[in-house]
Amino acid sequence: MRLIQSAAFKLTLWYLGIIMVLSLLFSWALYRVSSDQITTGINRQREAITRLPLPPALEPRRTAYLTALDDQLDKFNSTLLIRLGALNLATLLVGGGLSYFLARRTLRPIQDSLEAQGRFTADASHELRTPLTVMRSEIEVALREKHLSAEDARGLLASNLEEIAKLEALSAGLLRLARFEGGLDPAAVEAVPASELFEEAIDRFQGRIAERKIQMEVKAGAETIDGDRSSLVELVAVLLDNAIKYSPIGSTVKLLSEPAAAAVRLSVVDSGVGIKASDIPYIFHRFYRADRSRSKEQVNGYGLGLSIAKRIVDLHQGAITVESIPEKGSTFRVKLPAQYIPKKSLF
Ligand code: ADP
Repeated sequence: MRLIQSAAFKLTLWYLGIIMVLSLLFSWALYRVSSDQITTGINRQREAITRLPLPPALEPRRTAYLTALDDQLDKFNSTLLIRLGALNLATLLVGGGLSYFLARRTLRPIQDSLEAQGRFTADASHELRTPLTVMRSEIEVALREKHLSAEDARGLLASNLEEIAKLEALSAGLLRLARFEGGLDPAAVEAVPASELFEEAIDRFQGRIAERKIQMEVKAGAETIDGDRSSLVELVAVLLDNAIKYSPIGSTVKLLSEPAAAAVRLSVVDSGVGIKASDIPYIFHRFYRADRSRSKEQVNGYGLGLSIAKRIVDLHQGAITVESIPEKGSTFRVKLPAQYIPKKSLF
């Protein structure tokens, strides 16, 4: 990514600039202190020698000695300058590497988020295009028809409405997913009783539960989970929605909650179609739908639900797992810490 590369380059220059200013200030102070000390010492010696009463025969020795003292001072100063120069050169090289490393680390979360956004946009536009392509081709075929009957026109409109409904469902799913991309607001965190999560999630699907004659079995104690209530309800709702969607009419769906060592374990158990072992690693990926031939026609969805659920679980620092036997049913387990401690990151 060019944007990140150029930001990393600029940040490296800033960090290196700061390091070099500090290093040069330190060198200058060191030079001043050492040079002043040695000059004072040599001046003292010079004064003592100058004041020494000597016979004229020894005067050339005195002059030679004073010249040697001056040479010693010059040599000391130039050696000190060379060493400090070498030190600053080494600081420049090591500091350059270190600055680049720090700049990359500082920018990594931004880079990850930009890449995620890019993937999201690519996936979303791909999925949005499908219903639009269907609508376009149906309309084109109808327009080519010279004598389009009212019945055909009505059929076309009905089919278009279906595609529009899909687009609406898809954009609603994308919006929900985007909402949870932002992160958890610590101010919105409260202790939510598991029983209330179940009640609120069930409320959303009363109609479908009745329509599919699903028997609901709910077991929850007094345990509470620290979290954002609306997203936790959304999490249970996604799992419950799937359990209802992928279960036969008249089957039982269980919602269970139990305390588990400083955490709470929520389980959503169904006796539906189940998931093949080969699909399990992918079902939490965005837009992934297992067994397309089976589910695309019969069950509506865009493969967004479980990625939303996973995102909510991650935000609450929990874990989600699934056990499933095809044609027997699935159990989704979510383990959430009873207490939410916001993570502190260095960068
Ligand atoms: P969607 O249900 O919209 O397709 P999800 O992300 O919620 O998307 O689920 C991804 C896939 O995982 C589904 O297409 C389905 O194949 C499978 N799946 C999820 N939950 C269940 C379940 N309870 N029983 C069977 N299959 C499931």
